Amino acid sequence: MKIPFVTFLPMERELDSEIRSAFDRVFTQSWYIDGVEDKAFDKAFAEYCHADYCVGVGNGLDALMLSLKALGVKEGDEVIVPSNTYIATALAVTYVGATPVFVEPDIRTFNIDPKRIEAAITEKTKAIIPVHLYGQACDMDPIMAVARKHHLWVVEDCAQAHGATYKGQKVGTFGDAAGFSFYPGKNLGALGDAGAVVTNNKDLADMVRALGNYGSDYKYHHIYKGNNSRLDELQAALLLAKLPHLDRMNAERRRVAGIFTSEIKNDKVILPVVLPDCVPVWHIYGIRCKERDALEKHLNAKGIGTNKHYPTPMHLQECYRDLNIPEGALPIAEEISRTELSIPLFYGMTDEEIRYIVDAINEF
Ligand SMILES: *Cc1c(COP(=O)(O)O)cnc(C)c1O
Repeated sequence: MKIPFVTFLPMERELDSEIRSAFDRVFTQSWYIDGVEDKAFDKAFAEYCHADYCVGVGNGLDALMLSLKALGVKEGDEVIVPSNTYIATALAVTYVGATPVFVEPDIRTFNIDPKRIEAAITEKTKAIIPVHLYGQACDMDPIMAVARKHHLWVVEDCAQAHGATYKGQKVGTFGDAAGFSFYPGKNLGALGDAGAVVTNNKDLADMVRALGNYGSDYKYHHIYKGNNSRLDELQAALLLAKLPHLDRMNAERRRVAGIFTSEIKNDKVILPVVLPDCVPVWHIYGIRCKERDALEKHLNAKGIGTNKHYPTPMHLQECYRDLNIPEGALPIAEEISRTELSIPLFYGMTDEEIRYIVDAINEF
């Protein structure tokens, strides 16, 4: 059997006519930037998150970067980010001129360990970016408590967690702002690049919108040295078509993950842990194994696609050599990078495929 790591085909087949009619609607309107679709999506996604405002932007990296910029984070500042995340989280900090400070995760959940945050705070710290990694919310109560105590902004990175909840509350509504990505492979994906900032702060929403539109509050009037990062009409319309299906598709991912969690039984394999307060949306199902590369070879040989999130931690990437963080300095992130293996989990997996993956892992 051949099972790709990810495929959008089952979802796209199911939503084919809705996606095509969204395209036709925009093409008929013949209006591509800053129009009714963007407005409608912003309203719908804010409602979905139970937040007051949503501002569509060009991608998830810009959503984080523009949030930090609007909050006044700048050169000389420090921002706490998890040591285990996709590099966009750290790059958003770098792009506003600030320095990312890495805090280790809880190896069971892969998410930032709230107990380790306070030790990383200095007089330069301005913000924390908790990343709801692989679709599971961070432990937000202690994170918000330490942020409030030290007067730090909180920008949630929700790129992998659309619809995930913590104590019944959707991610994206705990901090001062949240960045979402609608990269095609995310739980809610566009057919290209797209992202959004979600916030309950009107001034912040207005500023993010202006910053992503050449710093303009109205046409040819520029109050900031902004840049160009807008959610275009086509992507907004496509996202509007997919949004009503998100909860159902997330629930299906949870069903598949539930089978993995109860059926995978192999002493060499460590399964991801879900905190009791969290309902994850399983962007990624990441298992750990000391013999990770051998397990990957075994699964690939059986036709099962796999991935690693992430093979090299950020502090050991060439682009961050200037931070001078040596190998061994962030042992938990390094351990995850050596042992994590992501197995296929996408909407529309068949029971036969799920069974085949479980059996292949159990016989390793
Ligand atoms: C995908 C992702 C981003 C960046 O989103 P883009 O839309 O690709 O810019 C940021 N943070 C995390 C954790 C991501 O997974």
